[in-house]
Amino acid sequence: VKPDLAVRNIGVLATLAGPVPRTGDGMRDLGIVTDAALVSAEGRIVFAGPARDVPPDFEEPVHRLDAGGAAVLPGFVDAHTHLAFAGDRDDEIGERLAGATYQEIAARGGGIQKTVAATRLASRDELAAAVSRHLDAMLLCGTTTAEVKSGYGLDTESEIRSLEAIVQAAAAHPVGVVPTFLGAHDVPPEHRSAPKRYVDLVVHEMIPEVARRGLAAFADVFCEEGAFDVSASQRILEAAATHGLGRRVHADELSWTGGAELAAAVGARSADHLIHVSPAGLGALAASGCAATLCPSAAFYLRLGRWAPARTLIDAGVPLALATDVNPGGGLSPSMPFAMTIACFAMGLAVAEAISAATIGGAYSIDRQDDIGSLEVGKRADFIVLRSPRLLDLMRVGVPAIGHVVKDGRVVVREGRRA
Ligand SMILES: [Zn+2]
Repeated sequence: VKPDLAVRNIGVLATLAGPVPRTGDGMRDLGIVTDAALVSAEGRIVFAGPARDVPPDFEEPVHRLDAGGAAVLPGFVDAHTHLAFAGDRDDEIGERLAGATYQEIAARGGGIQKTVAATRLASRDELAAAVSRHLDAMLLCGTTTAEVKSGYGLDTESEIRSLEAIVQAAAAHPVGVVPTFLGAHDVPPEHRSAPKRYVDLVVHEMIPEVARRGLAAFADVFCEEGAFDVSASQRILEAAATHGLGRRVHADELSWTGGAELAAAVGARSADHLIHVSPAGLGALAASGCAATLCPSAAFYLRLGRWAPARTLIDAGVPLALATDVNPGGGLSPSMPFAMTIACFAMGLAVAEAISAATIGGAYSIDRQDDIGSLEVGKRADFIVLRSPRLLDLMRVGVPAIGHVVKDGRVVVREGRRA
């Protein structure tokens, strides 16, 4: 096989090679190789290691990239985003900065309901264009794969249209996309008087239709007071399992509801947010192998005033992932490095732990650990070339640390711009 790309002169190669899930002390091991090279063919890695060990019988590559002594690490895997929406909620930012809470804003018709009204009026092409714009911004920040949720349609037709928009945008975009059905994001206004009717609709109509059309890999539930309680969430997640969808849960974000316990009980792949996770929930996650996908930027922009107990989760052996939670309300930043910076400087992770959580941790969270998340032979050639050998430069918020981004062996960002 003729190599399509050879990257030489890599000062520091963070391979993240090793067993998955990466937990506990293992998260600090980035599998660093100095003076390294990386070679790909047909979009897959055929060599990643010391430059002196590149097999001499490799053919000349089609393309060469000189890393200039800089660091190379896996592309970021953003395991929690909401990109399929229309309109904006910029007016709420001022209210929040003046002290209004998430629940207060939702109670006056803002929040998710405002975005649902705008999204229901948007065409599939308009939603796909919106998804694509967000993916553009994420790619420039080093994200090469993202989980993308529906959840602003909240009726069968609008949810299907949102998922089709996600699939349509993904087909034409370098960022790899894993779609998630989030019909259980909130109870829409027409069902507020009888929320059980809406749960029935999600269970009996939406999930079977989404599964039949093959539009999503996962189903997700916002398990929270005012959205879906534990028993409604359980019904929805069990229906998802019956129809062959993976499960994810927005768990214990604004208050403790037992979301983490539920995620473990239904065999969910990931419990997300976990700001108010209980000790029992934490133990259940550790025992089940369910990932904890943390979204520190959301806690920051929502001004929640506290963070998920990341250190305790790591010490308990829960597989950790980081995500941006890009969304129209509390997800202003598409940047995984920003989420990683908060994870370190507000939540107390080591830089290496944040890098693990943002790469192989994210891949585990979306069940793609065999394909992406580390730089090992056979995996996709998805990686970032920094502008220096210092991984710590990722934490210098506002200073562009990322030079090139490579997806499937193709340079898609060069010198910080779309190639
Ligand atoms: Zn979310």
